[in-house]
Amino acid sequence: MDILKRAREIQPEVVANRRYLHQHPELGFDLDNTVRFVKEKLTEMGYVPLDCGDHGVVATVGGKHGGKCILIRGDMDALPMAEESGLDFASLRGDAAHTCGHDTHTATLLGAAKILKEMEDELPGTVKLMFQPAEELCAGARSMLEDGVLENPKVDAAFGTHIMAMLESGKVAYAPGPMFASCDLFTITVKGHGGHGSQPQTSIDPIVVGAHLITALQTINAREVAPSDIAVLTIGCFQAGSACNIIPESAKLMGSIRSFDADVRAFVKQRLIEITEGTVKTFRATADIEFMNETGPVVTDKGVMQSLGDAVAAVLGEEHMIRDLAPFSGSEDFGYITAAVPAGFFAIGGSPKDYPALPQHNPRIRFDEDAFVNGVATYVAGAVGWLEANRE
Ligand SMILES: [Zn+2]
Ligand SMILES: [Zn+2]
Repeated sequence: MDILKRAREIQPEVVANRRYLHQHPELGFDLDNTVRFVKEKLTEMGYVPLDCGDHGVVATVGGKHGGKCILIRGDMDALPMAEESGLDFASLRGDAAHTCGHDTHTATLLGAAKILKEMEDELPGTVKLMFQPAEELCAGARSMLEDGVLENPKVDAAFGTHIMAMLESGKVAYAPGPMFASCDLFTITVKGHGGHGSQPQTSIDPIVVGAHLITALQTINAREVAPSDIAVLTIGCFQAGSACNIIPESAKLMGSIRSFDADVRAFVKQRLIEITEGTVKTFRATADIEFMNETGPVVTDKGVMQSLGDAVAAVLGEEHMIRDLAPFSGSEDFGYITAAVPAGFFAIGGSPKDYPALPQHNPRIRFDEDAFVNGVATYVAGAVGWLEANRE
């Protein structure tokens, strides 16, 4: 089968599916309509879609001649924001919008499903399709993992894709090794002792403790992490107090840690705990530390990535590939999958024509729909090519 030609032929259907999903965005795990739509389309193609995790969908194709199993993943959730793209198929909801392009991942994975079903008799192995919820909550991949997405049949390799409006349309890119950073969100609640603003000696001021803490935590980056390692620690929120003359009971600090390396990540988290405990103790306060959405980095397996990259290049042409992309400091919960099985990841260039290339999550973001051809072809070429190269 000429994969690229077939991807071009089904492009109108991919665009129509994408526009429907774009107009009807859903959030997190609340994907009733999206899941219904995906299952309906898969069933029409002859698949038997199965529920997996909380609002995840799995379907398999091939395996008639034995062989290995590769998983290809597309996420389905939107973001809780209003859309300002000005597109005539913009979100019909005021409180949800596909500003990260996950609608395009769902639609291109459905397109790939169609082509793979047509190729089923010749597939040199099994392809497992993973339609994932709640990527933006960094929770959907874990939900499907815990429900056995990598079992029955057992998955030998995997890859995901993400459209990028700031990457030139027509290009498909990857980073060998680290590609997205880990993300650990945290909340530190500093507990002091409230009192009158005129009598600080009778209270323990959590605002002053919090101010020391913010400064102390910055020394992890500045003084403790090696210059050759990368870590970002940001306090994005500091809340305390209600009036000029009240020393409050508590203060809340919220922040995030990003890194590309498991050891650096663990070290920064450990030092955050130690420095917080030491600092609050110095000032007679106490603190509760809570970590949330702990997502590991997306680290592509060099061997699998090379094999996938070669397979995609053979279909799209080497001139369309970028094989040495700089890692993104953003995060992707596909990190749960790359930690569990040798895996790859592709960024699909989707910069719009005659419109500014905006960052993901911008309310005015648009993507070039022509890029969906590459999205579909990348899924199919990567999966089939990897199975061929790793025939048992
Ligand atoms: Zn996003
Ligand atoms: Zn995304």
